[in-house]
Amino acid sequence: MAFDYEQYLRPGKLPHIWCPGCGHGIVMKGLLRAMDTCGLEKNNTAIVSGIGCASRLPGYVDFNTLHTAHGRAAAFATGIKLAKPEMDVLVVGGDGDGVAIGGNHFIHACRRNIDMTYVLFNNYIYGMTGGQFSPCTPTGAKASTTPYGNPDPVFDISKLAIGAGATFVARTTAFHATQIDKLIAAGLRHKGMSVIEVLDDCPTAYGRRNKFRSVVDMMKQLKEIAVPVKAAAHMTPEQLEGKVLTGILHQEERPEYCEQYQQVIASAQGA
Ligand code: SF4
Ligand code: MG
Repeated sequence: MAFDYEQYLRPGKLPHIWCPGCGHGIVMKGLLRAMDTCGLEKNNTAIVSGIGCASRLPGYVDFNTLHTAHGRAAAFATGIKLAKPEMDVLVVGGDGDGVAIGGNHFIHACRRNIDMTYVLFNNYIYGMTGGQFSPCTPTGAKASTTPYGNPDPVFDISKLAIGAGATFVARTTAFHATQIDKLIAAGLRHKGMSVIEVLDDCPTAYGRRNKFRSVVDMMKQLKEIAVPVKAAAHMTPEQLEGKVLTGILHQEERPEYCEQYQQVIASAQGA
């Protein structure tokens, strides 16, 4: 039977504001499919976002949702999870929101290993706020604030998450639609901080400035750069030049933050 995603949509909120060809809709459908697969209850689930195109997602779905300040989604989500540890808590947002303005909150949520699932839409640009370069804009690429090419090196979000202490880190792309829900579902099942980075296309703020002739070109590039981790094990450094690894990049078991915090509360109460 076809997946009935409409049951998860907030009545009367579509059509969405995303540009034609934007990958965000693909990621949203993958997210809903993963939540359905994992049997998440609407009333027991919170989806939190900051500001940006991807951060508009909670407005379209029928869960407990919170659309917060720019970069602060992980902090709000931490508060929800500590107050209601029994809830499933997700964060959605973009690269500018998540690892530039919200970089500090992101790394500390990873360090604490709090049990939430963070789906990070990495489209290499600040889309909604005017096409400024983000820490994920490729070196040499054009943005509204780097019209002569970006001189900065690029953040690898997945490596950042692993280094900061996230216990589940995975990456895929908007081209790999059926992998999105599998990885998000694996992240939802994992106890601890789960980060799923989805390389995404933004034809409006990024593609046009960087000589992509169409959305199809952007999707082709996402297809071509992605290498599954298992396949990468058999490739040379030269063959991996310019590629990104996809799949589950890291998974470990480590004490989860809310459970540790409950022990602190019990100690303080003399239990
Ligand atoms: Fe998507 Fe880019 Fe348009 Fe934002 S500006 S909706 S990220 S295509
Ligand atoms: Mg972005």
